[in-house]
Amino acid sequence: MDTGREAMYYEAAGERIHCHLCPQDCRIAQGQRGVCRVRLNKDGRLWATNYSRCTARALDPTEKKPLYHFYPGSYLLSLGTFGCNLKCGFCQNWQISQRDAPSYRLLPEEAVQDAVQAREVNPRCVGLAYTYSEPLMWYEYVLETAALARQKGLKNVLVTNGFINREPLKGLLDLIDAANIDVKAFTEDFYRKHCKGRLEPVKETVEVVRGAGWHVEVTTLVIPGLNDDEKELADLARWLASIDKDIPLHLTRYFPNYRYSMPATPLDTLKRAWEVAREHLSYVYTGNMAGREGSTTLCPQCGHALICREGMHLGQRDLSHGAQCPQCGQTIAITGSIMS
Ligand code: SF4
Ligand SMILES: [Zn+2]
Repeated sequence: MDTGREAMYYEAAGERIHCHLCPQDCRIAQGQRGVCRVRLNKDGRLWATNYSRCTARALDPTEKKPLYHFYPGSYLLSLGTFGCNLKCGFCQNWQISQRDAPSYRLLPEEAVQDAVQAREVNPRCVGLAYTYSEPLMWYEYVLETAALARQKGLKNVLVTNGFINREPLKGLLDLIDAANIDVKAFTEDFYRKHCKGRLEPVKETVEVVRGAGWHVEVTTLVIPGLNDDEKELADLARWLASIDKDIPLHLTRYFPNYRYSMPATPLDTLKRAWEVAREHLSYVYTGNMAGREGSTTLCPQCGHALICREGMHLGQRDLSHGAQCPQCGQTIAITGSIMS
């Protein structure tokens, strides 16, 4: 069996191995795997079995991550593996997060070479995204690939649940440029019951990486009856605003998937959630639903429509050089240039 690469951040704990990568804090017996299903105790050493194993690769619009304020109109060579350290019953990607999906070998240098070639063909390709399943459970691979990508002038983007311990997170701080982080709800109860995880470490991740200068956007999948309480959404938005009110928040529509079968989020619920969050934050979007309204960047000062989106692509835009609203002069929080 291919065991991948020896994992980082573990120690022997008697007969078991204690993994320190994430707050699941697994103590893994010989021959067993951690909660993430990709870290294996083999003969007293811990192995990252998904190292260099790729389940999906595509040149995606950056808007698809979703990142709306990071090089708008650009593309990212997007890579995914398998495995996840949360167990969300509503997972929208469960075929690769919770199952051993078919994969092929893609070494870090090959991934970077692919991204360089993608940029040669399409200059709007600005880098790599580690996405689809949970990239923090692909830790060693992301670390190596991101370092090589940096040397080639490529950006590194994570699409993540943010559920990682402080020490390993530090190892990524200088390598990653941008992240979309899921804050799945704003109660510990939700994380415990529906994800088998905890909220507090996720909040810490958002605070730490924003403090380290990453471009950060946050996504919350709004699930009817579970996390759509207006007070809870207001608390989430208020907390995010206390870090930086210019962090974009994406409120996305839940559809029945994996173990959860309740009907999709009503559109009115999303609209109300958008209104609640907008009271605290400069940029709020709705996603996974038709219509342009929720995907348009509005000036937080005067409400002028600055960037319209058609699906995942940029449509009409009205933003002057320097990302200033042409109507009121407000500076709009955009990282990097608009590429179209
Ligand atoms: S990374 Fe995997 S094995 Fe390690 S603590 Fe987290 S879930 Fe457990
Ligand atoms: Zn304006």
